[in-house]
Amino acid sequence: MTIQSIIKNSIKRLELEGKLLTPDFYAEAFCKEAAKSGMKVEDCHPLDKFTQTLHKDFQKELTQYRITTMNELVRFLISKLNRTNQNHCAEMLDGQIQFTKRVLHVVEVLHNKEAAELAKKSIEMLAQTPTIAQLEQFRQLWINFITTYDDAFLQRLSSLGRVDTGNLKESIENLRIPISSADAFNNLDLMKISSLLISSLVPSIASSFNEDIANISRKIKDDPSILGNESVIDEIKAAIALRIALDKDSLKEMLESIDGVLDKLSLRLIDMIEKSDNSTTEIRKIKDELEAYSEESTKNFTLSHKKLFTIALALEENTQLLSSDLRGHSEEITILSQRVRQLENELKAAQEESKEDFLTKLYNKRALDEFMNIKESEFERYGHNFSVVMFDIDYFKAVNDTFGHDAGDAVLTAFAKILKKEGRIEDILGRFGGEEFMAILSETDTEGGVIFAEKVRKHVEQAKFMYRDQRISVTVSAGVSERKQHSSLNVTLKSADEYLYSAKKDGRNRVAYKK
Ligand code: GH3
Ligand code: MG
Ligand code: MG
Repeated sequence: MTIQSIIKNSIKRLELEGKLLTPDFYAEAFCKEAAKSGMKVEDCHPLDKFTQTLHKDFQKELTQYRITTMNELVRFLISKLNRTNQNHCAEMLDGQIQFTKRVLHVVEVLHNKEAAELAKKSIEMLAQTPTIAQLEQFRQLWINFITTYDDAFLQRLSSLGRVDTGNLKESIENLRIPISSADAFNNLDLMKISSLLISSLVPSIASSFNEDIANISRKIKDDPSILGNESVIDEIKAAIALRIALDKDSLKEMLESIDGVLDKLSLRLIDMIEKSDNSTTEIRKIKDELEAYSEESTKNFTLSHKKLFTIALALEENTQLLSSDLRGHSEEITILSQRVRQLENELKAAQEESKEDFLTKLYNKRALDEFMNIKESEFERYGHNFSVVMFDIDYFKAVNDTFGHDAGDAVLTAFAKILKKEGRIEDILGRFGGEEFMAILSETDTEGGVIFAEKVRKHVEQAKFMYRDQRISVTVSAGVSERKQHSSLNVTLKSADEYLYSAKKDGRNRVAYKK
């Protein structure tokens, strides 16, 4: 497209848009048509070469205000120049520095040590026209301060009241801090304190209550507000001193009284130790006396260390005496118990050796066994015959049950006498056990044995067994056996036993034997 056709189109455009053919409108229309046809015309962008040299902020403003023509650009620049004061920057800088210093002064007096120090250093730095680097360094220090700042310590105050960290002044006013000023006491507080003070003036040990103390106490009670008066303070001091003196006197008195008790106690102890034979009674006496003193001592009790120590020593000594006494006695006891054991053994041995039945004084089973063995060996060696008679009292259990055990014993003794009476001197008579008796008859056959057994049976039947004026009827049964008729001693004994059993079975009070 040629320049002519662009001019032509430009005039047409103006006609269409109804605009006058002024140089400005024409230039505008020409540039639009040139751009449309792709032709680059330098005059269409006159501002570009200037705007590119301007500060970026100004470039932004130019687009903001839609400045496109040279005229507009010139007007823009003129207004900028008109608004710019030569000293403005210096003044601004100075003003800002002053402002910063004021802020720092304020920070300096706020109650934060680290902030105050940093503010002080910052003010010094600003006073010496700082370099950009110095400003940067301090800016960093302040950032560090604020990032590490911690006000958690304020929370510790919360035990005293509500704490608002953003409003410390009001927080402090709200805190329930104990108030020291006397003016701040209300009447109730004063009343409480004055009653405590009065009770502290009362002697703790002494029983008497001095008139001076009573007076000052009464005064305070009547008007607690006098507590602040110098003269009242002096009076209280004097009352305290008096109270202490009264207590001391009382304590001294008490010590003396306890001393007296302890003196008596130690005298009694020494006395007791001297008469140590009957120490139990003496100790009981001392205990009684101590009980009598205890009433006095509960009123005025304290320790007299030295005297108690002496008593403790005396007691220790006495205990030693007592324990050596006991040791002596225990040796005696050991010797005696050994003797008892020895006697027991001797008795046991004697019993074992004994051949006598303790109740009837006849031979006991042990002796009977021995005799039987002798008889047996005589029989085996020399052919000496012998007979065995077994006696058993009839219904003896009934005797015990009816008349008692002692009566039974009496019957056994009486039976033994009958046995002895009917026997010969050489007959071996013994108690085999319970109410069973045995006779070992030397050189005697069954017939002889039966004669002897019958004599005994009859005698028993006729005898009057008396026990405590009571007549007890007794009978006895017997079994007889002869050695010669049997193969051994044991068989002979068994046979005698069997005959005794058959005598019982056949009605008792009889003698059974081999016919
Ligand atoms: P039986 O006619 O069958 O022989 O009747 P029993 O009652 O005599 O016989 P049993 O064997 O039933 O009872 C014997 C009694 O003898 C029982 C026991 O208490 C008594 N006895 C044993 N030894 C003694 C003693 O030494 N003294 C006394 N008093 N009684 C004794
Ligand atoms: Mg029996
Ligand atoms: Mg019997």
